Amino acid sequence: MNKEIIRKTDPIQRRKERLSRGLARSTQTALADLEESPDLPRSMGYFINIMRDVFADGRKDRLFRPTGFQSVNPKKVIGTYCIMVPEELIYAAGAIPVRLCGGSDETSGIGGELVPRDTCPVVKSSVGFTSLDLISLYGICDAVIVPTTCDAKRKMGEVLSSFTNVWMLEVPHVKETEGARKQWLLHITALKRDFEKLTGRKIRRKALQTAIRMIAGAQYEARRLHEIRKSKAPVILGREAMLALNAYGYDTAFEWTKAMARLNHELEQRRDKGRVVAGPNAPRVLISGCPPIFPNWKILSLIEEMGAVTVADESCMGSRYLYDPIGIAEKSMRHMMTGIASRYLMPCVCPSFAPNEDRLYRLLQMTDEFDISGIIYHVLKGCVTYDFELIRVEKIMKEKNIPVLRIETDYSPEDIEQLRTRIEAFVEMIGMKKSKMKRG
Ligand code: SF4
Ligand code: SF4
Repeated sequence: MNKEIIRKTDPIQRRKERLSRGLARSTQTALADLEESPDLPRSMGYFINIMRDVFADGRKDRLFRPTGFQSVNPKKVIGTYCIMVPEELIYAAGAIPVRLCGGSDETSGIGGELVPRDTCPVVKSSVGFTSLDLISLYGICDAVIVPTTCDAKRKMGEVLSSFTNVWMLEVPHVKETEGARKQWLLHITALKRDFEKLTGRKIRRKALQTAIRMIAGAQYEARRLHEIRKSKAPVILGREAMLALNAYGYDTAFEWTKAMARLNHELEQRRDKGRVVAGPNAPRVLISGCPPIFPNWKILSLIEEMGAVTVADESCMGSRYLYDPIGIAEKSMRHMMTGIASRYLMPCVCPSFAPNEDRLYRLLQMTDEFDISGIIYHVLKGCVTYDFELIRVEKIMKEKNIPVLRIETDYSPEDIEQLRTRIEAFVEMIGMKKSKMKRG
């Protein structure tokens, strides 16, 4: 039988093609929503193209862009989940990191056949992407690192190991103890050795220093965007800013930083000229909870469709990813490794840690800094980890008189009308509250 006939009659292949088309459609829909905006900053084109290349066209050359290490031609790709894997070590070993947390409804359905029904869609989608090899992002990874964060992610590692080369990274759940910190440093040191073995390249002090500087450059630009989003009248929509931040996971830090610097420059010019995307009276929303992962732009789009602007996010696919810099006392290998280990553990406020008081402080601080009118707390179905922390978030926000709306959903578009109604009512309420406060 010739290859074309096999392709047409093979049910798995047919299913794969159908899902590929579905994913391309969801990607185009999410991107068209952004591209149709008359206020879209010119520099957003770069980030939109990343998403199109990765999710709609499945282009792997997108991932082999310059890394900033001119002498290295990276051949190894390391897939990462969550935000505890030190990218500095990956770059210094001569490889490229890519972020694999899934945000697609199409692959969530497939993953759902391999994990328990009530698992969150991030895990279902990640499993679906890997098992079907739908886009090159997942297939080209030489190793995939799964930190043992929440229960779902931990068990996901086992499932993924039937399809790909999985390395589990043990993350302590209580980070304040001396023992946990020592253990973590040992794990990170072991990971460094594994990277060296995989790439055949020893991590030298100079290369690590360069990698630390490079990621610090990306963090600088991410924080610059963060500052811009504080302006009284917003100059960028939240769904655009989140897309640019999400795109970091699919680009090299070196290229992304240059593109983000261009975007920031354009936004600062807009701010100086008073070119805004909404007036100072528009309700200002902070999105918190489970991460919005492309192409699942459902909640982000609905918030802004209703006239509010998402001016801040507290998400591991957004600001939290690139916020905290590495503090290094000396540039010896030992100090750099300690600084890296500390950076990827201590400031992280992923709800898989307990206690996680820092997250509450951070949220409180953000509501002041961004002059937040209301919080949308995004809970993906099956995610108890985030839901557990909601009660305390609601309590502290009640004391500050900041309304919180809990939205429980998944990646399917089926509940969109119901969500629209709830978000519309919430935006209207916080808008009225804001005007009332202004009138005094
Ligand atoms: S919230 Fe924590 S466990 Fe969930 S995806 Fe983000 S880093 Fe991973
Ligand atoms: S923290 Fe929640 S959303 Fe994130 S992987 Fe775990 S269960 Fe899923």
